Parts: sequence; structure tokens; C-alpha cells
Amino acid sequence: MTMSMDSMYQQIILDHYKHPSHHDLLDPFDAEVHHVNPTCGDEVTLRVRVADGTIADLGWQGEGCSISQASTSVMSNLVVGKPVTDALALQQKFLELMQSRGGAELTEADEDELDDAVAFEGVSKYPARVKCALLGWMAMKSAVAEAGWGEKEAGV
Ligand code: ZN
Repeated sequence: MTMSMDSMYQQIILDHYKHPSHHDLLDPFDAEVHHVNPTCGDEVTLRVRVADGTIADLGWQGEGCSISQASTSVMSNLVVGKPVTDALALQQKFLELMQSRGGAELTEADEDELDDAVAFEGVSKYPARVKCALLGWMAMKSAVAEAGWGEKEAGV
């Protein structure tokens, strides 16, 4: 029996929801942000430590729907240890995927880069849920900017 892509993606989301990565507020930290998605009631508090233009560490806590919490978990796995420029480029790629309304045509390279974040592809068909999936990514973007590594400083 083979699993459909949809059920495989649902499983990835469920696993991250049940066992979130980087799910603790690190200390010390360079910046902390708190983002809310009022339409769904999702919240995330996220802290980052940036060293020499690299996201040295990131930790978060939150509450809300499985999509918002799982997406933040996936994002944290993808960006910790990455240069800020790469993390922001990936954030842009995920944003475009979420804005595709189910019409994204991902290359194999995109899929490799997005890794588990590809599991949220189906969410793009549901405009009401897109903000859930983006919550943690937007928080990460704000946090690195607040830490002094925004798009301008990072040269994106
Ligand atoms: Zn939500």
C-alpha cells in the first residue's frame, strides 16, 4: 500500500505539531518577537541569536492550530545554522509557495530546499489558512531584522 502525497504531507504536519523542533525560548538572545494571527487565534513568541550573519540559534513557543505550530517547527529546523541571507531567501520562496493558490510548480531544487516545508503546499489552496502557515516565517523575518540583520543589512 502506498501513501498518497496528501496523507504523507498530513503526517509530516502532524509529527511536527506533536513533536515541535526548537520549541523552547533560548536565553541569551539577540531579539524576541511576538506574532499573532487573529483570524485563527495562533500565537508565536520567537527568539533568535545571530552571529556573524548566521542564525546561530532560534527558539520559540506558541499556541494555535496544527498548521501554525507545525510550520514554525519546520521553519526552525530549516533556518538554524544558515546564513541570514539564505534564511530570508527561503522565507521568500515559502511565501511565494503560500501565495500560489495551489498552482505552484516546484522544481526538484525547490523541493530539496524547502524540505518538510513542501508539506504545506496544499495549504495555499485555502486563503484563510495561509496566514497560519506563514506566522512563524514572518516572525523569523522580523526577529532577524530586530537583531540588526534585516534584508538591507544582510544584502538580500
Ligand atoms: Zn491557524
